[in-house]
Amino acid sequence: MARPLDQIAISETELAPFVNGNTQAGKAHALLEQQKGVWELLRNGYDTLRTVRTRAFEFDGFQIKVQFNPGRLTSTVAKVDAASIKVRKCFLCTENLPPAQRGIPCDGEYLVLCNPFPIFPEHFTISSVRHTPQLIRDSFAALLQLTRDLGSRYTVFYNGPRCGASAPDHLHFQAGNRSHLPIDAEYDLVKEKLGSRLVRSGVLHAYAFEDYLRRHVAFESPDATLLQRAFGALYEVLQDGGPAGEEPMMNILGFYTNGEWRIHVFPRAKHRPAFYFKEGDEKLLISPAAVELGGICTTPREQDFERVTREHIMEMYYEVCVSMDKFAGIKTRLASKLAALVA
Ligand SMILES: [Zn+2]
Repeated sequence: MARPLDQIAISETELAPFVNGNTQAGKAHALLEQQKGVWELLRNGYDTLRTVRTRAFEFDGFQIKVQFNPGRLTSTVAKVDAASIKVRKCFLCTENLPPAQRGIPCDGEYLVLCNPFPIFPEHFTISSVRHTPQLIRDSFAALLQLTRDLGSRYTVFYNGPRCGASAPDHLHFQAGNRSHLPIDAEYDLVKEKLGSRLVRSGVLHAYAFEDYLRRHVAFESPDATLLQRAFGALYEVLQDGGPAGEEPMMNILGFYTNGEWRIHVFPRAKHRPAFYFKEGDEKLLISPAAVELGGICTTPREQDFERVTREHIMEMYYEVCVSMDKFAGIKTRLASKLAALVA
């Protein structure tokens, strides 16, 4: 039977026993505690997460972690081609949510839901209440707002429909503990060492990262409107020369600290690295998306976890991120657009 939104929306009374403080982040944390008590699939997911093993690989001033997480098999090998999507029931549409699943409504547009296949100690999916395609151009403002509301505890992230979203047909973000992602802790040092400044302005900072294994752009600003315009400029640069009407491939990680956003945009060249498609011993099931670009590579198979090397990691980022040449062009064109923006 279809469940209307008001049955899914959890009430303040139901959350009250779990809430500590009155922030949106505090409520999300409370939702997770409530849901663990009543939703078995979720509880099992978090039990599996307790068995996770991690290896850390050190690079020049930064770290990449590899996580063996058997709970991520479905997501890692998700078929996201149009035909496969067409025949499955959408798992983010409210009428298909399991009976025990509840959520926190945000502005009548989104629902904070618990992700039953966690990578983070607290992992959420924030889905649109409508079945509408995964596209960032018109939902970037929502990403900023969610990042601000949840930022004290979580990073909010976006995976493009062709590079990591397992529901490319249903608009959604995810959120997970920000302290868990290497990129958050190492950002200031990495920026100093490897970041090149793209614009000089008091209200908008933009940096390009070339030697951080995953080439990307980071924007910092306290001004949401300016960030939207800066992101719009990058979007145009990335879209140029690509297939008309198709979103350029990208993953986004959003952080909010002391009244300022920090938004990392990772332009992509490919969805999955070559080793993903190999057979036998050469195959490694790692399917990079925002979390991987943030420094945690999950693999659902133990043999891959044991076998993965530093070289594999370098090769993977090298293949799925844009080339050095392409990135140089992106930098130049973005810098001139940003200069015009803050002039
Ligand atoms: Zn849907």
